[in-house]
Amino acid sequence: MANQDYKIKQLIQMEACTRCRICADICPAVSASGDGELSGVYRIKGLKEILRARTGLFQKLFGKKEPSKEELNRFSGTVFRCTLCANCQEVCPVGIHLKELWLSLRQDLVHSGAYPKKIDMIRENLEETHNVFAEDNEERAEWVEDMRNPPDHGYIKDKAEAVYFTGCVAAYFPLAQKIPIALAEILEASNVDFTLLGEEEWCCGFPMLGAGLRDMFKEFQDHNLEAVRKRGASKVIFACPSCYQTWREYYDYPSTLEIIHASQLLMDLVKEGRVLLKELKMTVTYHDPCDLGRGARVFDEPREVIRSIPGVKFVELRHSRENCQCCGGGGNLEMMDAELSSEIARRKIEEVLETGAEAVITSCQQCVRTMLTYVRRNKVPIEVLDITQLIHRALSK
Ligand code: SF4
Ligand code: SF4
Repeated sequence: MANQDYKIKQLIQMEACTRCRICADICPAVSASGDGELSGVYRIKGLKEILRARTGLFQKLFGKKEPSKEELNRFSGTVFRCTLCANCQEVCPVGIHLKELWLSLRQDLVHSGAYPKKIDMIRENLEETHNVFAEDNEERAEWVEDMRNPPDHGYIKDKAEAVYFTGCVAAYFPLAQKIPIALAEILEASNVDFTLLGEEEWCCGFPMLGAGLRDMFKEFQDHNLEAVRKRGASKVIFACPSCYQTWREYYDYPSTLEIIHASQLLMDLVKEGRVLLKELKMTVTYHDPCDLGRGARVFDEPREVIRSIPGVKFVELRHSRENCQCCGGGGNLEMMDAELSSEIARRKIEEVLETGAEAVITSCQQCVRTMLTYVRRNKVPIEVLDITQLIHRALSK
């Protein structure tokens, strides 16, 4: 276990916690599990005790001992049952950067050998296949074959103006593959010159940050940056908010490279008149993905895109924008505690149903997968669509 896993700033910020418990009140993991030990306030208290017990001075003065392996494992079990939704950070009145702190804490627990066994599986998958699901990385772009008119080049070009960085979820999960298909057809219809990286695309790195495996990150970052550089692209497009946010926050990419989320690109294409939209008679609501909303502060663009479709009636969720409640799909929670993830999804869908909308739109392949899995399993009469799928449906061809 290493106090060096924390920045000085984080250690100072932690001391500002007033134990107001506001973070516990809004935490989706706490409300879905009824377990206060999953809250930010509990986690900070536990972390402070561990850090103090590790320093020689405290040991000498107060006879504090380092926590036992069992105590650490028990604490670790609460730390990894978190969606990393950052709602706690959003509401913390003293401004502690809680999400980054949770990532450092996970890394500390991995260094200390107190982590869920699934982390070893994530590490092995990434090392062996360069994606988190242990799929064949050569099959990353196989979804192209399911397009209506796939081009001969299969969108694998030597050079292009833009790279569409697909992300692991959209590349491999059938429930999410409709998103890259929709986006590729929209880009084609808008004459955007783009390429995929195919097998040269590796995991963006977010799952390893979330798993406390930051030590692996640089190799993946450097590989992806080089793959984009080789294509001569000036822009990288993402439909996955976690890939987008990881590049935005953690990649050391050149200032000449523009990185853009699909919802922002769609807004530009609509404004420029490059996608022509027919009428859709639908009432829809919008779920802000945690990494796109609270993370990248992209709130307005997806709403503008939805409102640009003639005939679409838009209604907001009870909790929207920075207060939007997580769908349950973040932070590797599904791998750690599938039941808790599903219960968070149930609560999300209940809130969606309150609006009377026929469809919930989002801008994230993982949110689509989490909500759609719940809706299908429980036969809930609501559509779950990514914003790319909604625009694709409205394209006047
Ligand atoms: S909201 Fe912030 S100050 Fe309040 S208990 Fe949580 S971490 Fe501490
Ligand atoms: S990141 Fe989300 S799930 Fe995790 S402690 Fe904060 S509010 Fe709870």
